[in-house]
Amino acid sequence: MTKSRIDAATAISVMDLFTIGIGPSSSHTVGPMRAALMFMDSLPQTPVRVQCELFGSLALTGRGHATDSAILLGLSGYRPESVDPDRIGAILAAIRTDGRIRAGSAVDHMVPFEEARDLLFRMGEFLEAHSNGMRFTAWLDGRDAPLVRDYYSIGGGAVLLGTAPTDDAAPLGHNVVQPYPFSSGAEMLAQGEATGLSIATLVLRNEGAWRVQAETDAFLDSVIDAMSASIDRGLEQEGLLPGGLKVRRRARAIHQRLRLQQDALGPAQIFEWVSLFALAVNEENAAGGRVVTAPTNGAAGVIPAVLHYYRRFVPGADRDGERRFLLTAAAMGFLYKKRASISAAEMGCQGEVGVACSMAAAGLAAVLGGTNGQIENAAEIGMEHNLGLTCDPIGGLVQIPCIERNTMGAVKAINAAYLALQGDGRHIVSLDAVIETMRQTGEDMASRYKETSLGGLAVNVVEC
Ligand code: SF4
Repeated sequence: MTKSRIDAATAISVMDLFTIGIGPSSSHTVGPMRAALMFMDSLPQTPVRVQCELFGSLALTGRGHATDSAILLGLSGYRPESVDPDRIGAILAAIRTDGRIRAGSAVDHMVPFEEARDLLFRMGEFLEAHSNGMRFTAWLDGRDAPLVRDYYSIGGGAVLLGTAPTDDAAPLGHNVVQPYPFSSGAEMLAQGEATGLSIATLVLRNEGAWRVQAETDAFLDSVIDAMSASIDRGLEQEGLLPGGLKVRRRARAIHQRLRLQQDALGPAQIFEWVSLFALAVNEENAAGGRVVTAPTNGAAGVIPAVLHYYRRFVPGADRDGERRFLLTAAAMGFLYKKRASISAAEMGCQGEVGVACSMAAAGLAAVLGGTNGQIENAAEIGMEHNLGLTCDPIGGLVQIPCIERNTMGAVKAINAAYLALQGDGRHIVSLDAVIETMRQTGEDMASRYKETSLGGLAVNVVEC
């Protein structure tokens, strides 16, 4: 299959990595929703009928990942970053009751839509280019043949039309000239060495190729605030998560217990708080709530949890530090996107929670005062001990092992950052070597461990 790796020369922005969307999955919810909207809005006229076929991993785990709901919302003109999560149930109920769907965002025109006929899960069938394939068909008045387009959800909410990046997959345009481009960890360190700039500053200056710094700062602040909001909301909610596994939300009860112990805060409690932050985000994600894709939804809790560790437990933490945290983490995300993939359908969970752990480790090492070499080391450690991590969600739901796995990713990231800070930046396994190892391991991994729910926990735990 064609890989979804971004070309090494392609400039990636922090706005490509961190997007505000809805749960439970960036590749199976956010990406399909965008693809459906793009298809509908690309039509030359209002169709008389539309159909969507889901292939590969989207067919196998799409119901558990709410891909069906995402397609209905996207076809109706809703965007993941702006749809109100509390209204989604009513929107879907209206579509299913009326048997009609709004034709995209541009017009207020209804099209007949029978879900059993017009949304098809092609189980066991794959499109050529990528495991997460979608085929949209529209019948238009006055045309003999229907209009057919294939889209691919390649991870982190990014979408390809055919095999070419769409405008939505590259919202800012990638044909920019960055002052300090880098496509490998070695190039990143060399840029820092040559200029004396930190990794965060290199990224910030590169973002200047697209916009003024005030706009980048405002974007980073919106991401930080959205991450905080997802933690806050997750700490308030209780009850069972949707999907039939009967997974009970735990964050609220744990929060109430930890608040009682605040006066006796010890090392163990700090890790309990970090795990709690990750739990809160990922329970919110599993419930279809608003989260930041960082860099994916399944791994959405790791970076907010470590960022909140910094905010809450590191003396002197401030907003500038939080921005530097995200810019540094983004630099690592760029490298994984360019040199491997962040799609679990290609890399397993090492490409989701593993990458998030690596990014968070780098971000924390930066705000704890690490040198560029120590930051690169932290990122390397964060991935090295996630190599081989499979994706085997029970019932195709982003719940088990996903929610707890984010707590492990967050704690491991903190450990990786402090371990790297104990050294002087020199280390044997480079970040480039570990990214390449992740890529090769992902390619060698049997497809049943890559977001298909055909292996691992998904087949060894009886659903009840
Ligand atoms: S196991 Fe990991 S990669 Fe797979 S759905 Fe869960 S969080 Fe995502």
